[in-house]
Amino acid sequence: MSIKTIADVDLSKKTVLVRVDFNVPLESGRITDNSRIRAALPTIDYLIKRSAKVILLSHLGRPKGQKNLKYSLRPTAQELSRLLGSSVLFVEDCLAADAQKTIVEMEYGSVMMLENLRFYAEEEENNEEFAKKLAAYGNAYVNDAFGTAHRAHASTAGITHMLPIKVAGFLMQKELEFLGNRTANPERPFTVILGGAKVSDKIGVIDALLDKCDNMLIGGAMAYTFHLAQGKQVGNSLVEKDRVADATAALQKASQKGVKILLPTDSIGTNTLNFEMRTIGHTKTFSEDIPAGWQGVDIGPKTIEIFSEIIGKSKTIFWNGPMGIFEITACAEGTFAIAKAVAQSDGTSIVGGGDSITAINKSGFSSRIDFMSTGGGASLEFLEGKKMPGVTALDHKSM
Ligand code: AMP
Repeated sequence: MSIKTIADVDLSKKTVLVRVDFNVPLESGRITDNSRIRAALPTIDYLIKRSAKVILLSHLGRPKGQKNLKYSLRPTAQELSRLLGSSVLFVEDCLAADAQKTIVEMEYGSVMMLENLRFYAEEEENNEEFAKKLAAYGNAYVNDAFGTAHRAHASTAGITHMLPIKVAGFLMQKELEFLGNRTANPERPFTVILGGAKVSDKIGVIDALLDKCDNMLIGGAMAYTFHLAQGKQVGNSLVEKDRVADATAALQKASQKGVKILLPTDSIGTNTLNFEMRTIGHTKTFSEDIPAGWQGVDIGPKTIEIFSEIIGKSKTIFWNGPMGIFEITACAEGTFAIAKAVAQSDGTSIVGGGDSITAINKSGFSSRIDFMSTGGGASLEFLEGKKMPGVTALDHKSM
């Protein structure tokens, strides 16, 4: 990857606008997972040490262009301040009249955070005037928000045309290295594990990764659409009938390429399920066919064993998506078993997507994962080979 990073330019004593992704999960104003904030610390620390003025830009949730304090970034500024052990200035409106004055007066080597950019519709519209106002706050730009780099917004795309220095932060660099280089030239065997609800969300990435991997392990509800393609019974499992043709095409491509696609050989099924209440009725272990009246909710013990063995022998592993309805404890065993297998493998492990990261964190094995991608949708689009506006807009190293 030939994108310039903050290590390639001199940012000392500069006022640096850093686009971070502090789109963290909140419950009643409390941050339930601070991973995204922690992931940005290396870049922020580096800039503080170079006595830069650090101005953080981010979005949180979907306030739809309206000021809505439910989506205020203030809790993230407080959490960052706790993690840094120093105060973080907070400006309550990203276009506040006094923002510029605060920036002029702030000390070099200190950090300021602007309120949610998406309180203005102009952010997602990539509005030029809005981008210009943000750009006027600083004299260099760093993008460390891989999770939004697949969107051309004012703070990821427009702003880059208005500043002389625009480079990647350390997190962005790591994302590009692990999702780019390590999967493009993987140590083999390279095993891809995909789960979650929908084939439709992941067909692009399935297709792209079939060109690169040796094994593809498919779990979650997605697997049942593949079972349908193989003429198996799926009972009441969640399937996408209109995606059976895609599943068939993927199976054909895999066999032409000599890639092994493994589907669950057994599943845990239930006869009733109430997602809101997080409860299920009776459970049974089924082999590949699930009869009417039953719904597949997790991979079964045999599948856990087969998948874990392949994962254990792999040199590169990419995992995205849960193996079952892991939000319900009784359907979470498969996902946690895979989290454990991925963590215990000696191969390079890359985990993408919020649910898989939550599962890894809950499993207590997160320290054994080589890289956890912060960008769910973005990591999938990047793996598909799509151009990312927030990345292509950055300065490139001359070859
Ligand atoms: P995705 O966003 O596509 O990665 O899907 C994640 C969602 O898939 C989670 O909320 C899981 O509960 C759901 N999921 C995984 N396995 C199943 C299954 N067998 N049946 C229904 N939903 C599932």
